[in-house]
Amino acid sequence: MFAAPVPRRRVLVGAAAGALLLAVAAVGIRTMDADSPSPAGATASHASPQTVAPGSSTGPTRDPANRRTVRLVAAGDVLIHPAVTEQARRDAARAGGMDFAPMFAGVAPAVRGADLALCHLETPLADPAGPFAGYPSFNAPPQVLDGLRATGFDGCSTASNHTLDQGADGVARTIRALDAAGLRHTGSARSAAEAARPRIYQVGDVRVAHLAYSLNFNGLSRPPGQPWLANLIDPPAILAAAHKARAAGADIVVLSLHWGTEYQHLPDADQRAWAQQLISSPDVDLILGHHAHAVQPFQRFGDKWVVFGMGNELARHEEPINDNREGVMARATFTETAPGRWTVTRMEALPTWTDLAPALRLVDLTAALADPGTPPGLRGDYRAACRRVLGYVRALGAGADQVVASGG
Ligand SMILES: [Zn+2]
Repeated sequence: MFAAPVPRRRVLVGAAAGALLLAVAAVGIRTMDADSPSPAGATASHASPQTVAPGSSTGPTRDPANRRTVRLVAAGDVLIHPAVTEQARRDAARAGGMDFAPMFAGVAPAVRGADLALCHLETPLADPAGPFAGYPSFNAPPQVLDGLRATGFDGCSTASNHTLDQGADGVARTIRALDAAGLRHTGSARSAAEAARPRIYQVGDVRVAHLAYSLNFNGLSRPPGQPWLANLIDPPAILAAAHKARAAGADIVVLSLHWGTEYQHLPDADQRAWAQQLISSPDVDLILGHHAHAVQPFQRFGDKWVVFGMGNELARHEEPINDNREGVMARATFTETAPGRWTVTRMEALPTWTDLAPALRLVDLTAALADPGTPPGLRGDYRAACRRVLGYVRALGAGADQVVASGG
């Protein structure tokens, strides 16, 4: 199993305001893990810091004007279809194993280079030995988490239309696996207490809250009395949670929304209405969208951004088409433009593409096109995919100077 440590950054993770009182560690990536691995109903009383991986200290990042900055990278759906699992088996060093890391290796430089990297885990996870299932009721191998961690992700949103595919057991199993892999999570929970604690990452001396909600659960309902099991989009509840995160000390509040109409490149009426309402709140700094299996625009609202849809990060649909092979990662640089005020001063789009043969591989298109080692036979397809993705990203008026095409 590929299990390289993540050689960067200064991310601490907390899930409770009390944990934020802890001093920033001088070296390495640490977590303040108030809920891991707690059983259902546990409280946030055991909030002691815990080193999860060795790393090098970079200290607080400052821009040339000596302002503090945080560089966030976010990705679209990680959707583990059976063909993705088959590729992980083929990539494993030993028979019977699975290694998902090679599939993500193309985007690892971009992910590792961020101060904070967030993915979207669309499906519940099974036990390591299975049984596994694909669409419509997913149950994916938890081994994918080792791949995400090795790629450099710090945490994932877990609220999606598939969150309840395997019931409450699936939710609990997924969260246990994330905790065990050293990945943080938000969007589903094992208890009311767990759901009530805002997920807060400590990035150097900056606190970033991450909240996540889904538009539906594919017709499934949360059991009576357990609305905390998975977060459903409900603007008043989202705004209350964002306010609570801010009150808990978050400098920056990031909201992940699983929303939209599948295979549509433009936001639907619900997305537009929710975006306007939520991004207008002083408690929401950035919205990151996914679900549509197609790239959607990055749109500016005042001095904030809504990323309507990042498409798939990694998936292998039964019918691979350009839409579901294309994706985009968003890279947002937050700068403290006035004391305590954080603004996205640079927004970048990192177009991606999934190669299907000879192996399933996620490609960072800008980086691949800049690499002289990329075979000439692939360049035409990569250039065309890159152009399409940037077209979707900028379809609602963002200029090339506003959403900068990047890679690596
Ligand atoms: Zn979805």
